[in-house]
Amino acid sequence: MTFDLASRLAARHADHLYRKRPLLEAPQGPEVVVDGKPVLAFSSNDYLGLANHPEVIRAMQQGAERWGVGGGASHLVIGHSTPHHALEEALADFTGRPRALLFSTGYMANLAAVTALVGQGDTVLEDRLNHASLLDAGLLSGARFSRYLHNDADSLAKRLEKATGDTLVVTDGVFSMDGDLADLPALCAAAKARDAWVMVDDAHGFGPLGGTGGGIVEHFGLGIDDVPVLVGTLGKAFGTAGAFVAGSDELIETLIQFARPYIYTTSQPPAVACASLKSLELLRGESWRRDHLNRLIARFRQGASDIGLTLMDSPTPIQPILVGSSERAMRLSALLRERGILVGAIRPPTVPAGSARLRITLTAAHSEAQVERLLDILAECWNRLAQEPFENA
Ligand SMILES: *Cc1c(COP(=O)(O)O)cnc(C)c1O
Repeated sequence: MTFDLASRLAARHADHLYRKRPLLEAPQGPEVVVDGKPVLAFSSNDYLGLANHPEVIRAMQQGAERWGVGGGASHLVIGHSTPHHALEEALADFTGRPRALLFSTGYMANLAAVTALVGQGDTVLEDRLNHASLLDAGLLSGARFSRYLHNDADSLAKRLEKATGDTLVVTDGVFSMDGDLADLPALCAAAKARDAWVMVDDAHGFGPLGGTGGGIVEHFGLGIDDVPVLVGTLGKAFGTAGAFVAGSDELIETLIQFARPYIYTTSQPPAVACASLKSLELLRGESWRRDHLNRLIARFRQGASDIGLTLMDSPTPIQPILVGSSERAMRLSALLRERGILVGAIRPPTVPAGSARLRITLTAAHSEAQVERLLDILAECWNRLAQEPFENA
């Protein structure tokens, strides 16, 4: 029989890898209703708490009144409207680059940038822990594709020696499942020495990182010569939807001419661009959200290490707790859930085998009291887990 889906699904269950979608019955925020139950959630990427901000909501409402609902066509036909254009100009200004190009999702921005820049005869080198969309982009490009050891400039340099054609080095800015920062100064130096270009996907850095929320390049003080291709997404700290690539005029024109995931898709609703313009204004102008978030991160790390949990080397709102087996990660997340705390259990293939974890994310919308509650309940559940026998522990 072809298409034996039932046995594939059964195997997924047996491996503790079966995924279910929790049903969110409230707007994003710390206290939500999920699958009919109130929970305190530490699992969204809404790092600055803007997804349900009244001013952002208002901007989207007014945008819909002024510009209607649908994008109507692709950007190159008649879907590129005034709010899209204004947002691109604001994002160029924000990133300090000549231009920015708006996409409907980060996944598409990554596919677009990599496939427009490299192809057969070229080379694309990626961090092993890059986001799936970057790895998919590398494969789709048709370029020679190789992955270097996580955050390891020496491993990159060895691969650069063998590179042919135009060479693109691609890395997450903040690694989405570990929360650590790319060692950009070293990676960029290695790339420059071989005339390779660096592309950074800073989906999780824009907003939380840098003095004005400018992400990892602002954090390290790097410019367009170090990172010619800079990607950001709007569905995380911006609290809206979409993504952008920022760079030179030539880069942006190249994407407009050659990037199929840009050309062959409908533009995002203009009202979403209106909302993103407002959240960009809040993100740049109101630094108290970043300050509060940084205090929560410091408190969480202190408290978690007091409990004896294994944290990762993360200065960001992504604070994974390493558990090991998928089964134990699922069990710990279930214990937390019974006590009203929702955190994501991240399992292979999203992370390497044996490194299943709870992915705790903090946001500026959380209070200190909510972080204390998380720590208290984590301590209780962690002790409980230690007393339970496990086959693959
Ligand atoms: C979420 C994410 C993306 C995808 O962005 P979407 O706008 O959600 O499609 C790309 N890269 C990284 C590192 C991400 O975390």
